[in-house]
Amino acid sequence: MKKVAFLTLGCKVNMYDTEAMQELFAKRGYEIVDFEDKADIYIVNTCTVTNLGDKKSRQMLRRAHRTNPDAIVAAAGCYAQVAPETVAKTEGVNIVIGTKDRASVVDIIENYADKTKVLNAVTDIKTERTFEPLEISRLKDRTRAYVKIQEGCNRYCSYCIIPYARGPVRSRLPEQVMDEVRRLAENGFKEVVLTGIHVASYGLDLKNTDLIDIVKQVNTVDGIERIRFSSMEPLAVNEEFVDAMKAMPKVCDHFPLSLQSGCDKTLKNMNRRYTAQEYCEAVERLRAAYPDVAITTDIIVGFPGETEEDFIQSIEFAKKVGLSKIHVFPYSPKTGTPAAKMKDQVPPDVKNDRAARLIKVSDELNRAFADRLKGRVMPVLFEIKNKDGFWEGHTTNYIKVLLKSDENLKNRFLDIKIGEYCGDETVYGEKCENTK
Ligand code: SF4
Repeated sequence: MKKVAFLTLGCKVNMYDTEAMQELFAKRGYEIVDFEDKADIYIVNTCTVTNLGDKKSRQMLRRAHRTNPDAIVAAAGCYAQVAPETVAKTEGVNIVIGTKDRASVVDIIENYADKTKVLNAVTDIKTERTFEPLEISRLKDRTRAYVKIQEGCNRYCSYCIIPYARGPVRSRLPEQVMDEVRRLAENGFKEVVLTGIHVASYGLDLKNTDLIDIVKQVNTVDGIERIRFSSMEPLAVNEEFVDAMKAMPKVCDHFPLSLQSGCDKTLKNMNRRYTAQEYCEAVERLRAAYPDVAITTDIIVGFPGETEEDFIQSIEFAKKVGLSKIHVFPYSPKTGTPAAKMKDQVPPDVKNDRAARLIKVSDELNRAFADRLKGRVMPVLFEIKNKDGFWEGHTTNYIKVLLKSDENLKNRFLDIKIGEYCGDETVYGEKCENTK
């Protein structure tokens, strides 16, 4: 039996693509082994979201080659797509695939005969118009399934390389989404996260469907009890969207609503297409519908031209809207994007200082959010037992709950009384009588 090993860098979409490629290899009789093990084939699903992502991708490709110099090493994913020539020259790389043709990855590798030549199988992504049929049916050691519903982005935010790496918006056909969700439910998954590069664009390229419609369909699948989104654009959160979500109890009261900055000048320079006020209105709409809603977000600090005053505006805005968690990213210039060429780049020490200050605010907001729910009884879906013997699970509004139990709680719902906050977005929980 031939052995194949995978390594994924970057985002949830890349992780999904890796899982799907693993299933293709498993169906063809390959054994999937750890990346550190000796394998016949290594596939590194690369990332290019920052220049650091590029560097790490090259490092992992070299590492695969050193683990087994006789193996075939293939680079797939975003970095391979935007810089195929550079990737092809990386030590040990045999095949460069990119973000297209992953559905044929097994054939591409099996047909690769001449190891003295690097095969560059990357083709133009800009003209791609259909969603590549990659699918999954199970996920190793996980209870939450990511379901990719769309690919690509038409937005061109000034700091982001993704539209060049992933191409334009392509939505997965509703029947394909439904087949996958049903399959996952049959395999015991109770929670799905609808994911994509720009989820709010779902349906833009299809007739008679949109994000609301696909969520309504997923909501009908027996066995699926929770539906989440991997990220959401604030402009998508209009009244129609909120009313529709509220009518579906499986949709969790947790919305990762991308902010990036709370300062209008910076948002404009980023080519984000909303203002801080519009973001605030989206939050208010959600809060009116879901009193305990968790709004989590991403914020970039030290974007070119961001002054101390602009940064303070961002901090004050995050506090004002009551975000429950902020993922903080110091701006990292990405070659090939307009922002990388902007004047007034912010020095690294200033970026790091702002990042540390915003992380502190995020921790405070997170603690305040959890403290507000202390004493409440909430359903928790348990996922995994940690090394300290606690079961870890999440509430619908994404508070991580720890519970000491000798029972096997994996993939089980329990009603839990929310206890003390113990840091790191986590609370202790106490078991109540009712379980389902
Ligand atoms: S919306 Fe902006 S940040 Fe998100 S993938 Fe598209 S271009 Fe990148």
